[in-house]
Amino acid sequence: MRSENLGGQDSRSATTHAAKSVESDCELKWRILVVDNDPEVHAATHAALQGKTLFDRPLVSMHAFSGDEARSLLLREHGLAMVILDLVSEQASSGLDLVDFIRHSADLRNTRIVLRTGQPGQVPRLETLLKYDINDYRTKAELTEDRLLAMVVTAVRSYKQLCAVDDSRASLELILRSSATLLETKDSHDFASGVLTQLAAILKVGHEGLVCARRSGSPHDYYVQAATGRFFELEGLPLDLVTSDPQLDTLLKSVERRCNVYGDNGGLALHIGHKDEQDIVVFIDAEKSHSELDPQLLGVFCANLSTLLHNRGLLERLHDSAYYDPLVSLPNRAHFVKEVDEYARHGTGDYVLALIDIDDFSATNDVMGHRFGDRLLERVARCLQDSLHDNVLLARLGADTFGVLGSIRQVQPKRLLECVRLPLNIDGVPHKVSLTCGYVLLPEEPQAGADLVKDATIALKRAKRDHRGQDLQYADKMGAEARARALLLSELREAIENKRLFLVYQPQLNLRTHGLVGIEALLRWRTEDGRFVPPDQFIPVAEHSGLIVPLGQWVLSTACQTMRELLDAGIAPERMAVNVSTVQLQDPGFFAMVFEALARSGLQGIHLELEITESVAALPTEFLNSTLSALRAEGISIAIDDFGTGYSSLSYLERLPLDRIKIDRLFINQLLEPDGARIAEMVAQLGSKLGLRVLAEGIEDAATWEVLLAMDCHEGQGYHIAMPMGRNELVGWLQTHPKRARLEAKME
Ligand code: C2E
Ligand code: MG
Ligand code: MG
Repeated sequence: MRSENLGGQDSRSATTHAAKSVESDCELKWRILVVDNDPEVHAATHAALQGKTLFDRPLVSMHAFSGDEARSLLLREHGLAMVILDLVSEQASSGLDLVDFIRHSADLRNTRIVLRTGQPGQVPRLETLLKYDINDYRTKAELTEDRLLAMVVTAVRSYKQLCAVDDSRASLELILRSSATLLETKDSHDFASGVLTQLAAILKVGHEGLVCARRSGSPHDYYVQAATGRFFELEGLPLDLVTSDPQLDTLLKSVERRCNVYGDNGGLALHIGHKDEQDIVVFIDAEKSHSELDPQLLGVFCANLSTLLHNRGLLERLHDSAYYDPLVSLPNRAHFVKEVDEYARHGTGDYVLALIDIDDFSATNDVMGHRFGDRLLERVARCLQDSLHDNVLLARLGADTFGVLGSIRQVQPKRLLECVRLPLNIDGVPHKVSLTCGYVLLPEEPQAGADLVKDATIALKRAKRDHRGQDLQYADKMGAEARARALLLSELREAIENKRLFLVYQPQLNLRTHGLVGIEALLRWRTEDGRFVPPDQFIPVAEHSGLIVPLGQWVLSTACQTMRELLDAGIAPERMAVNVSTVQLQDPGFFAMVFEALARSGLQGIHLELEITESVAALPTEFLNSTLSALRAEGISIAIDDFGTGYSSLSYLERLPLDRIKIDRLFINQLLEPDGARIAEMVAQLGSKLGLRVLAEGIEDAATWEVLLAMDCHEGQGYHIAMPMGRNELVGWLQTHPKRARLEAKME
């Protein structure tokens, strides 16, 4: 076999195109294979094609003298533009066998085939011509040089078009496939690198380029988002600093004019993006003159990429809204849990997850209004952010709860709380804020992020309850307690449903006259097996879950109903005292609920006393004042329960509109001990100074009663006077009480 390259020199170096396909390499010349056993035919064809150029590429003839020779050549050469084949050089069928070989075994579908035949009678049938996509057949006599050239021009043009169609199809497929890949890229850098890779593949050029994008929120501030090849070092730089390479003028023009620019030196810059949206400029060293680039294909590429960019923008915004809190411009709970999950899955050990809650936020929100509340949240978010290192994650997890995730060195809970040491300026008003923090150390062993957030929440809740304004680390036993509380809560719900809760009543007396001054309603829970669950245990659980609101409503209306019955029976005391938790007091519907209970039982305000605890002191003063004043305006009296056990500040006694102080039984129990009467005495004096009535709780013996009388404590309740009792028992007790009061008065 002889094959010769009879055309011009290929000017491009082999290395530049090492990555390109054999097919495209061959396309740089038009290769024409002549299969004939007649050396003269070869010589004539060679002579006719030699030195000729078609569509900017040289014609090259290749020569095979037998079918076998042709076969081995066909298997090697993929870029044959044309085969001129002598149909009867060997056996009768061998010519068509070779055609079959070209189309099927060598899989050359675009190669144009011209059959040459010695005799005019040997024309192949039409079906054969169609089946094998044979361009033409000629008798040898017909093939003069001119005719041969004309035939070659037609065949090569047709081959070129077929290849272009193939190329476009492959490029379009590539564009479609790359769209899916690009849409999936996570960050914008990966997207930009992907665009470069895809463009290089579509243009069949090397991988030298860069992508510029605008920094978010800035109309002119372009920077290099991704760069490859010799531009690699420019990545991350602002655009004004990347002008050193003259080829990049093309890029600058494209940025300036917001359109595609073809450079003179092979550079191509594509401007991609919609007006008023994120746009990017892709620069690639196309190594080709722009006449070689298919403008339609580039058009499709740009249009597709622009849609992709738009969709990515939508996806990013969706992603942002799913993981971002716009009010405080911080990541939200979902983002935080995802990040914690990521860290905790690797079991880092030296990380802290802290939850920070604004004390009394909901009351502030109610009293000062939601706009003020929003400002407060923003200010606290900024204070926390300013106090944290950049690589610490800060997120808003709930209404007034922030999450912090960072290394032990960078996140110190005590310091975090100090970030609001000074009053915050909100709308020109200084506002003192206190924060509470619950935190957990990330364990060495992997754990789910959601579980760690749950542990920190348990610590936070505990801190809110017992250590407001401070920080508390999660301990395993808190988890066990939280689970026990959760169990108790579900049992309590069931008990409420099954009507296992009821009220008992404890009388309150004037200690001097023995006259009945009131009755305190106390809640009881008897389990199915007859056990009593103390209210000290289940009330906090009900408060925590909010269940206290409907439960408290039931207590109030039941107590009012009993009072109605006692009034009707003519044995009622002056008033019925009902315990009210701080959570109830904060409920917006509380007011209406109280009046409805009174109205439904036909009671007046004077028939009711509400016992609130010292924890109300934590509520904002204005809110508390207005609520209590409104209640008192209706004749309802207000007692401070368990006085002395909670907040040490006594100043609120002066400030708040109150009627009665109840000295906690803790101080009454120690009355008989040496120096044990000091606190009770002090409270009694304080009460009389402030014009409040003072009631002692937990009087268990006559001696205590005596001591209380001596210290000018007017009223009392306790086992010595009467145990808390059910409604029927109470009715009996009340019916006999005046007798008993007289008896005891005689004894005095
Ligand atoms: P509290 O309001 O201070 O109620 C007085 C508690 O002292 C009652 O305990 C009562 O049974 C007990 N007590 C009365 N006399 C004596 C005595 O002489 N000695 C001793 N050792 N104890 C005496 P109880 O019923 O277990 O209630 C405990 C707390 O649970 C109440 O304290 C109150 O804070 C809360 N509570 C009870 N019922 C309700 C309710 O309906 N709503 C709300 N929010 N809290 C309630
Ligand atoms: Mg009470
Ligand atoms: Mg009490």
